[in-house]
Amino acid sequence: MPELPEVETIVRDIRPEVVGRTVLRATLSHTDVLRGVTRPALLRGLAGATVGDLFRRAKHAVFDFGKRRLVVQPGMTGALLVHDRPLSTEEARYAVLRAELNDGRTLVYRDVRRLGTLLWLDARGWTAYDAAIGPEPLDAGFTAEAMRAALGRTRQSIKKALMDQKLLAGVGNIYANEALFAAGIDPSREAVRLSLPEWDALHRELDRILSAAVSGRGSTVRDYRTGTGEQGKFQLSHLVYGREGEPCVRCGTTLAGTHALDARITVFCHRCQV
Ligand SMILES: [Zn+2]
Repeated sequence: MPELPEVETIVRDIRPEVVGRTVLRATLSHTDVLRGVTRPALLRGLAGATVGDLFRRAKHAVFDFGKRRLVVQPGMTGALLVHDRPLSTEEARYAVLRAELNDGRTLVYRDVRRLGTLLWLDARGWTAYDAAIGPEPLDAGFTAEAMRAALGRTRQSIKKALMDQKLLAGVGNIYANEALFAAGIDPSREAVRLSLPEWDALHRELDRILSAAVSGRGSTVRDYRTGTGEQGKFQLSHLVYGREGEPCVRCGTTLAGTHALDARITVFCHRCQV
């Protein structure tokens, strides 16, 4: 599923295309992506509304329409695109939400398997939603000490803690695996047991990797596409994710892969990660 760097890329790509534009009318092909809003309420709310801002929070793209916010969490097969010509048959088939803009273009939330979600929140709803998500790892105030304060009290594994959106925003399986390898930390370690130097290393490596992934326009493992419909490049820089059974780039040991920690694949080096 798209993580912080992927959603950041999508938001940066389409922000200049949509901010200041007004939605003339909107259509929705399926309601199974909606959370806490009905189709008529969403479409009525969107019609005539102007995009005041578009920003990322955690793994969500947030369209600020003033009174309401449209929160899009692209699932594994979700994408946000702005079309300046009529949609092809294939494009139309997977366009879940279409918003016709007042400059003649169409904002589309495309989702082949409809694993993503759409929320339509008022100010109170947004405040509550935002408050339930942990700090942003690329914010200037997110120091190693802040990271320890956010993650360091739990007995769950450091990998699960990194991916827990209530503790830390935007990190999912790819970047948790990569950051733990770069920091030399065994993913199964209890978060509460990490030392201060380990928090320093993990903070430094997570920051470095997320920043490089944003510069690389995200990681396309399967379906992720940028806001201009292209593949990201950061998958070429993965050192462990997707490399189980291959040699560790540092020591040559065969990288292990396990599903024992959580439901996701964890890839690590027995020798380099302690
Ligand atoms: Zn190694």
